[in-house]
Amino acid sequence: MIVGILGGGQLARMLALAAYPLGLRCRVLDPSREACAGQVAELIQGGYNDPEPLTQLARQAELVTFDFENVPVRAARFLAQQVPVYPPPRALEVAQDRLLEKGLFQELGIPTPRHMAVDSWAQLQTAVAQIGLPAMLKTRRFGYDGKGQQLLRDAGDVARAWELLGAVPLLLEERVAFEREVSMLVARGRDGEIAFYPLVENRHEEGILRLSLAPCEVTPWQRQAQDYAARVIDRLDYVGILAIEFFVVAGRLLGNEMAPRVHNSGHWSIEGAETSQFENHLRAITGLPLGSTRAVGYSAMVNFIGELPAPARVLGVPGAHLHDYGKSPRSGRKVGHATLRADTPDGVQRDLQTLLSLA
Ligand code: AMP
Repeated sequence: MIVGILGGGQLARMLALAAYPLGLRCRVLDPSREACAGQVAELIQGGYNDPEPLTQLARQAELVTFDFENVPVRAARFLAQQVPVYPPPRALEVAQDRLLEKGLFQELGIPTPRHMAVDSWAQLQTAVAQIGLPAMLKTRRFGYDGKGQQLLRDAGDVARAWELLGAVPLLLEERVAFEREVSMLVARGRDGEIAFYPLVENRHEEGILRLSLAPCEVTPWQRQAQDYAARVIDRLDYVGILAIEFFVVAGRLLGNEMAPRVHNSGHWSIEGAETSQFENHLRAITGLPLGSTRAVGYSAMVNFIGELPAPARVLGVPGAHLHDYGKSPRSGRKVGHATLRADTPDGVQRDLQTLLSLA
């Protein structure tokens, strides 16, 4: 069976690698000839708004999925007229717009940071007055890895942030003093079977994920996060892996955002869980039984951003596994990651500083 993937980045690449042992192959569609998934799967080079390459993908693949949430919903809907598309395009539509996303969370009883839509300078001033500072001004669409957002510390930042972002629809959100950031990954199969991964703790630097610890050491929120994720999955009639990121504030979970795809905070599962998120996504969308999501020991995943350290140095850290995405170095770009796995949390902590010092 051939699985089509819209987007040919590292997530598509890791999906393609996980597909081989299952007897599946992937075909990726990406506008760039350099897309790194093209090194391990056949690449169709073409734009997402061009019906010709989309049709080519639909003809070659039995079903289609996507590797990032900014592929046009129109492309997913166009494909869905020809082949099954999982997760459903509606999930893509919601995840592309922070206001729709937070609206869905609230409708389902999932608390979120206080926020208001901002479409004009006057609305920004009203929102600042109501929400207070510090606050985050974010673009409603096309934001990722901290792009398209500005921290407003005091009144002096407001005009500058408006200058930078004001050309597109925005959202002003209270800046929460979170104790931790955690994420829940859940897989749902075509037959409705559901498997939750253990909650993961995430640390970001400048809006980009730097480190994930799995399972999250203190997990009083596991059941709550599962309950929230189940509500979203149910509402969207979801198939595949869904990731939801939460802030822990005063011991409560607040929904930040969701990703209708495999997620960076699930990379640890390649070595750290009985079944990786990539394998479970493929199992889910092709109608195979899901695999166990149980953690095998304790893992820390460190992202390499900008450039990759020398492989020998990474692999010299006991328990470290390297993933080189085959990308050329560029500032701010995720070019690889390493996962450190050990039998105890202390075992992970012992070597983590060495690994972080390479990143
Ligand atoms: P996002 O793209 O919304 O996930 O934001 C990227 C990162 O910026 C988050 O993981 C947080 O570390 C930080 N951040 C975003 N929104 C807020 C907020 N409302 N309060 C505090 N930190 C935030």
